[in-house]
Amino acid sequence: MEAIEYVRSVPRYLAVKALYRRLPGIVTSHAAVIRLRDVPEPKLPNDQWVRVHTRLCGICGSDLATVAAKGSPYFSPLLSFPFVLGHEVVGTLAMGTDGLPSGTRVVVEPALHCAVRGISLVCPSCERGDTGTCENITRGSIAPGIQTGYCRDTGGGWSRSFVAHPAQLYAVPDDLTDEEAALIEPFACSLHAVIRTALPTEATILVLGCGTIGLLTIAAIRALGFGNRVLASAKYPHQQEWARTLGATDIVPTGSGLYRAIPDATGALTFQPELGKPVLVGGVDVTFDCVGSSSSIDDAIRLTRSGGSVTLVGMPGIASGVDWTNIWHKELTVRGAYAYGVEKLDERSVKTFDLAMELMRRGAAPLGSLVTTRHRLADYRNAIRGALASGPNGSVKTVFEFPRD
Ligand SMILES: [Zn+2]
Ligand SMILES: [Zn+2]
Repeated sequence: MEAIEYVRSVPRYLAVKALYRRLPGIVTSHAAVIRLRDVPEPKLPNDQWVRVHTRLCGICGSDLATVAAKGSPYFSPLLSFPFVLGHEVVGTLAMGTDGLPSGTRVVVEPALHCAVRGISLVCPSCERGDTGTCENITRGSIAPGIQTGYCRDTGGGWSRSFVAHPAQLYAVPDDLTDEEAALIEPFACSLHAVIRTALPTEATILVLGCGTIGLLTIAAIRALGFGNRVLASAKYPHQQEWARTLGATDIVPTGSGLYRAIPDATGALTFQPELGKPVLVGGVDVTFDCVGSSSSIDDAIRLTRSGGSVTLVGMPGIASGVDWTNIWHKELTVRGAYAYGVEKLDERSVKTFDLAMELMRRGAAPLGSLVTTRHRLADYRNAIRGALASGPNGSVKTVFEFPRD
């Protein structure tokens, strides 16, 4: 079967990293770190695992960072190569398991944690229900890998078929479309970020960046019932419109325009130092950085007031030019929010994926139309280049589709 495979090659990685800005087409060229290839279907690691036929699979920001060699090398020793990408996936079970008959439409929680790896003495993260941050991601019955889509044994959603452990599977209710189902994984990331961040009633919230994950974070804030003022920093008109539709109260610019808009919105005072960006006294109470670039991280900590908090939702890399004085002097709390697991909400414990589906079904999160662009796998060059330019070209979420006759 055809699959988009990531191949570990230091020269290719370095070439893409060095040339991507000047030659963006390199990400799908012969020098790329990915290739469309005919590969064997992955084998079932043991008799617990099942085969899944992909229906739709999204292209995530972390996939794009991987393809464009923009991310940190942090993950590379925690993965196994070559792997087939794709972790935002809705599919159909090709065989039955644990009360889910063959043919069931499923979404896959991609984390390859202790239970998935057949490890019975679970790690402290899994013990707490934080399966997304499992510490056994290099051990057990399958090769290393943080998620389906980053492990050589599981395959991934950028192909017609991959394998999954029953602990990863969720049946998709009939009233959710495939498009909605493909957004459950990224929506769960946003829900997790919002739930893990303290949001006092009066707090003014800033969401930096309105790509898919920023928009889903705005949707998560509203779906969870928070009535706070939400300022959305969105660059492109379609992102601004979506941010408003999903519940942002104010649209603010990106980049340098933030240093006028946030003081206007919050009454913060701005001062110009000898060098660099303005210093704010005051600002927003809580910032969700949904970009993860050096400048967005720097903006997030500059625009957040004393005692406030910053949550990193978008995947960061090795940030440069971030003025830590902001964190120190304003006693900010900066935290990461990665993936999902089990959430404690209103005295109950609920898996983030179940919560995402519940909120979507209640209509609290009308998200399906964020899937703006569909491509066949054979057209992956256009899909990936388009997804890398989703701001200027007016798209939000791009997915690969796998129609079956
Ligand atoms: Zn992702
Ligand atoms: Zn674990």
